[in-house]
Amino acid sequence: MTDPGLYRHLDEMVPWNDRLQVLEVIGIVDEAPEVKTFTFRSDAQTWFRYKPGQFITLELPLDDGPIMRTYTLSSSPSRPFSIAVTVKAQPGSVGTRWMFDNLGIGARLKAFGPGGDFTHHNHPAAKYLFISAGSGITPMMSMLRWLNDCAPGTDVSFVNCARRPEEIIFRKELELLGSRMPGLSLSFLIEERSSRESWFGHMGRIDAVRLPLLSPDFREREVFCCGPEPFMRAVREMLQSTGFDMAFYHQESFGVPPVEPVPAPFPELPANADADAAPAAAAVPVRFSLSDVEGECLPGQTVLQAARASGVRISAACEFGLCGTCKVRKLSGEVEMNHNGGILDDEIAEGFILACCSKPLCDLEIES
Ligand SMILES: Cc1cc2nc3c(=O)[nH]c(=O)nc-3n(C[C@H](O)[C@H](O)[C@H](O)COP(=O)(O)OP(=O)(O)OC[C@H]3O[C@@H](n4cnc5c(N)ncnc54)[C@H](O)[C@@H]3O)c2cc1C
Repeated sequence: MTDPGLYRHLDEMVPWNDRLQVLEVIGIVDEAPEVKTFTFRSDAQTWFRYKPGQFITLELPLDDGPIMRTYTLSSSPSRPFSIAVTVKAQPGSVGTRWMFDNLGIGARLKAFGPGGDFTHHNHPAAKYLFISAGSGITPMMSMLRWLNDCAPGTDVSFVNCARRPEEIIFRKELELLGSRMPGLSLSFLIEERSSRESWFGHMGRIDAVRLPLLSPDFREREVFCCGPEPFMRAVREMLQSTGFDMAFYHQESFGVPPVEPVPAPFPELPANADADAAPAAAAVPVRFSLSDVEGECLPGQTVLQAARASGVRISAACEFGLCGTCKVRKLSGEVEMNHNGGILDDEIAEGFILACCSKPLCDLEIES
């Protein structure tokens, strides 16, 4: 462990290895009701290398066994000695709630990443429009912090939506940035008034009437949107209704995007059924080489589901092909993989697949 007070120059440190890190909590801040920022440093002497807007996946050591959760880095890579995630515990939350209840200063966690391509760095533009709601503000905050540090004159129109005034995450910092970045135009849109705080700003939901008021030249901007799926759908539909060219629209999903229903992994057989009567002809043998387990994938199952059914553990977090946590090497066979950007073309060429969104087309051997 490094001395907390010891300053090291960047060139005296090695960059973050992009596969696995152990992080140590160095700061915890209450941002809004049920929202906290956890700041980490590396327990090795490394600096953090990522693009603003990218995410990491944390392994949370629950008593029942570890679970994985993916969080955007709300920090900026322009300050590379620490990273931060800003997390919101929804009702019924298991993983985030565990963090709230168990992560204190000095706690250590395994982390994987960074990953993701939701970053303005991949889409250089003269003008940006950031639209976010709830915890979807995190990638925008990372990008805005980076712009403030490295390109403070950038033209950014930022529309942030929240249910109530007190639920606006990073409000004070955003207002400060608004006073320091000449090109930043900041708008908050609130759904409900609150007894806790008076509100004299914009109210309502974002729509084709309000957007031109908040960002009059939105058609000229590269748009980044993040928030709950119904919110992003509304933004997409609203932009499309105005004739906006959707090639300039980018979004990040924190949850599973709407997909066709997947058949139940293992349909229960009647008690007296002959196991041989199961559709064996359609099941595909899958060998997990490191575990030395012969499994099978039933029709409609993913490699991840087949692994779980065979007692083989493959780490997974988002389970919709975005976070990349379940990346495994395919030693033989072919799969149909429908990912959401969690794997690079180079990795696919090297034989890697994402187990959560790959279905076998023939016998498979997986290095796991
Ligand atoms: C790329 C990416 C970036 C993200 N960035 C952020 C971020 O910056 N900040 C942030 O807060 N989140 C972020 N998320 C979301 C985060 O990864 C978690 O999905 C989210 O926080 C919920 O996890 P949880 O442990 O809090 O809740 P979970 O325990 O996963 O539960 C979520 C909800 O599902 C319900 N639920 C859980 N299990 C079941 C079940 N078996 N059956 C029925 N319902 C169930 C719970 O009741 C709860 O309402 C991101 C996700 C992705 C993919």
